[in-house]
Amino acid sequence: MTTQRHNGSMQAAVLYGPSQVAVETLPVPDIGPGDVLVRVAAATTCGTDLKVYLQGRHARMLTPPSVFGHEFSGTVAAVGSQVRGFEPGMRVVSNNSAPCGRCYYCGRGQANLCDDLMYINGAYAEYMTVPERIVRINMLRLPDALPFPVACITEPLACVLHCLDLASFAVGDTVAVNGDGPSGLMLAAMAKRRGARVILCGRAPQRLRVAQQFGIEWLVNYAEVPDQVEAVRALTEGRRGVEVAIEAVGRPEVWETTTAMVRKGGQAIFYGGPPGGTSMRVDAPALHYDQITLQGVFHNTPTHVAQALEILADPTLPWASLLSATLPLARLPEAFQLMMAREALKVVILPTPQAD
Ligand SMILES: [Zn+2]
Ligand SMILES: [Zn+2]
Repeated sequence: MTTQRHNGSMQAAVLYGPSQVAVETLPVPDIGPGDVLVRVAAATTCGTDLKVYLQGRHARMLTPPSVFGHEFSGTVAAVGSQVRGFEPGMRVVSNNSAPCGRCYYCGRGQANLCDDLMYINGAYAEYMTVPERIVRINMLRLPDALPFPVACITEPLACVLHCLDLASFAVGDTVAVNGDGPSGLMLAAMAKRRGARVILCGRAPQRLRVAQQFGIEWLVNYAEVPDQVEAVRALTEGRRGVEVAIEAVGRPEVWETTTAMVRKGGQAIFYGGPPGGTSMRVDAPALHYDQITLQGVFHNTPTHVAQALEILADPTLPWASLLSATLPLARLPEAFQLMMAREALKVVILPTPQAD
């Protein structure tokens, strides 16, 4: 017998279709010899989960009915017979994916583009199985002082760090970020940490205030200016434009605005995932004569996951300001309402009320 069985049941959110979620009693999942069973202490909502909730599915990650949620931290409840380095009671966080380590892209240091990226879902539940590959590559022990809800930010922060590694800017250069969601705020904060002069464009005053808590001085509320591109250019010397502009919304029209902000020789980076079937318009002569670089970016790599956890352990950064509310699992749909109304950045979901 290789599968370890656990008695008992748990509460878990099950996605049935667009905006259809039910919290149900399911059996605690079994684990194989290389797997780890985690008792989820906290899970956080993310823009991807909101998309999955509204669409009722995700092309790459899940088909309903399915448990879902992918940002979580918790305590090891059980380990398979072949697991090394983890034991029951340890506080851990895991990325929501792991690359294969064997394909063309993994061999070229582009693990985020792995042909066989393995995903996990099901963080909105009391227990979750982390499969062998993810345990081995992308599960990490938490520093003692790091609270569970903040640790949940590891995955999205790893994506942010990966994005910035693809950005070409020097200390003192100007980086513009378009989007005031959690990713936009983290991109701005981390670009500043790397020495950039950062301009954040958003429209929600409470989110721009969070940006200020992260030390971002240059804020453009695009709802209040006649021309967002001009407003950003006006903050650069001679209105020349920014060295790097990053799109963190996921809408092709914002991709176009982002491209229009960069200086000659600059770089536009597309971080937000746009809807399927959409396309963007590019001013071809500008691309040529102004020598603009267009850079797509997707997901993260194991190196960035480890770096993210280290940075989250820095208590001088106001991570908690990204966590707008805390709700029990049974009220998960409310979390998505809060996000849709732009009243919440991330919402912390507590699957086990007695955790922590
Ligand atoms: Zn996420
Ligand atoms: Zn691979």
